[in-house]
Amino acid sequence: MGLNNHVSMKHFNSFAVCADADQLAVLSSAEQLPELLPVLAKHQKRLILGGGSNILLTSDFRGLVVINQLKGIRILEDDTDSVVVEAGAGENWHAFVCWCIENGFHGLENLSLIPGTVGASPIQNIGAYGVEIEDFIESVLAVDLHSNKQVKFQKHDCDFAYRDSIFKHRLDRYIITAVRFRLSRLFSPVLEYSGVKEKLLELQLHPRSVTAQQLSRAICELRRLKLPDPSLIGNAGSFFKNPLVSTRKYLSLKADHPSIPMHRISDTECKISAAWLIDQCGFKGFRIGDAGVYAHHALVLVNYGKASGGQLWQLARTIQDAVENMSGIVLVPEPRIL
Ligand SMILES: Cc1cc2nc3c(=O)[nH]c(=O)nc-3n(C[C@H](O)[C@H](O)[C@H](O)COP(=O)(O)OP(=O)(O)OC[C@H]3O[C@@H](n4cnc5c(N)ncnc54)[C@H](O)[C@@H]3O)c2cc1C
Repeated sequence: MGLNNHVSMKHFNSFAVCADADQLAVLSSAEQLPELLPVLAKHQKRLILGGGSNILLTSDFRGLVVINQLKGIRILEDDTDSVVVEAGAGENWHAFVCWCIENGFHGLENLSLIPGTVGASPIQNIGAYGVEIEDFIESVLAVDLHSNKQVKFQKHDCDFAYRDSIFKHRLDRYIITAVRFRLSRLFSPVLEYSGVKEKLLELQLHPRSVTAQQLSRAICELRRLKLPDPSLIGNAGSFFKNPLVSTRKYLSLKADHPSIPMHRISDTECKISAAWLIDQCGFKGFRIGDAGVYAHHALVLVNYGKASGGQLWQLARTIQDAVENMSGIVLVPEPRIL
């Protein structure tokens, strides 16, 4: 395992912002852990990364960055209804979804094309098009950097919630090494999310007879229409979480803004569209220097070229202030701000 000093992080974050790390190590096999752990212990500041698609670096990182590239996929249990598959934390997420589909293991189709790694999938309980990963996680394997021991989190230990888990509150305490998923042999497509059935029909596919491959393809097409490709325009997907508010708060907002979209969570709680709030404040397509708000999706902040992390964060705060002034709602960033 090599340690590199003063490394540019430009190619290790999907915003493609320029920032340096004091030191960087690539973890590519479990055998390197005994060598890595004492090095990590020496650093007060450490950052465990996968694909860097859910972070914003606002300055140089004065510590050790570990890029997790632990690979390997294996089937642990196989019965007539379901399988348990373990994937190394450094496996590419979309490639893993495709592997599952090819092997007839179902559930992850709607999560196709989410950038990043398998190991980051539990961190913010990734979700898209009506599916969240918590529904398929059996357990998460990690090394606890407080004890240097291997630990296993069963699903119920992970405290999964909307874009949240126990790991988001104990950042850089654990190196997630692998994730175990229980997947179904039976394909039960989830088609209720807005736009999915319409896309299938547009592709001349019938929702009742759609295959897993076809659904995954439709999801990829929907995503390509809405979201900028990070290899072309730097971004981290949705920059803010959709706010959860009380039904009473929603009704008071609706009195002033009759068209406000909402998704009912329970009798007392609703989810409001953060993109709608940002759009209402006039930020869709807004640009200041190379930092901007994507013209096709108000929730996505973009780096058109040379924006710094600080400039993108400044824009995010301007948006937060405007939305709070308009609605009283404080938007919470989805990526990790460093
Ligand atoms: C175009 C685009 C679209 C996106 N769409 C979605 C979407 O639909 N749904 C969604 O939920 N997200 C989405 N995202 C966000 C992002 O892709 C996911 O959150 C993804 O899981 C991040 O994976 P990563 O490997 O890049 O994580 P990183 O950005 O490398 O890390 C994210 C966080 O996890 C921690 N971490 C990463 N790996 C490990 C590990 N092995 N052990 C311990 N900690 C670790 C990091 O310290 C950091 O706090 C999108 C991003 C982009 C750029």
